[in-house]
Amino acid sequence: MGGTFNPIHYGHLVAAEAARDAFNLDQVIFIPSGEPPHKSGLFVADSEHRYLMTFLAIVSNQRFEISRVEIDRSGPSYTSDTLAYFRALDPDVAWYFITGADAILDIVTWHHPDSIFSNAELIAASRPGYSLKRIQALKQQLGAERVARIHPLEVPALAISSSQIRERLQHGLSIKYLVPEAVEDYIAKNRVYARLEA
Ligand code: NAP
Repeated sequence: MGGTFNPIHYGHLVAAEAARDAFNLDQVIFIPSGEPPHKSGLFVADSEHRYLMTFLAIVSNQRFEISRVEIDRSGPSYTSDTLAYFRALDPDVAWYFITGADAILDIVTWHHPDSIFSNAELIAASRPGYSLKRIQALKQQLGAERVARIHPLEVPALAISSSQIRERLQHGLSIKYLVPEAVEDYIAKNRVYARLEA
């Protein structure tokens, strides 16, 4: 499961668990982006903070793991490089890349989309009511065969978003019950989003 996780929240965790159930996955590996390729201009917390918050959020689930692969790799965190890395680790496994449906809509602009599709199937987590037509519309650019490798997954808990959490922190509002308690405490103790505060 790839994401900037700025910060990780219960929507991500519920999406991961829902994907694990729906696709019968042995485990879900959370991969916080090191240098997110599409984020210029937005405040992205330091990668070590995002890694540690993700670690705290997943540590109690035996089926969840975390990888530093994108944090430790220099340069932009391209999903194609990450999936090639995991494919090489275990060529015989059926790999799935889980992320937000809105992110996947831009996949044609990502680095080496061909390599992404040859190394994994994709799970596109969306909020309820998300129009699947938006994914079907990718057929024109990607072709029907690749679009068939994108699996939509509706996750009601994705009504929570990282941007909403950052906005709440900016206005001094509570983020209790939107993120795990350990993440809430970590953000407060380390003043991770202090730069956003008024
Ligand atoms: P984003 O544009 O910040 O997110 C788009 C939408 O997807 C937001 O609603 C976001 O909600 C949601 N989302 C993001 N990660 C999610 C997850 N794991 N589960 C459920 N919803 C999720 O997306 P991003 O975080 O930058 O990128 C997502 C993934 O795509 C990352 O792994 C990134 O490396 C990869 N990516 C790769 C390339 C490339 O290779 N060139 C380019 C762009 C993205 P929240 O804000 O609440 O998370």
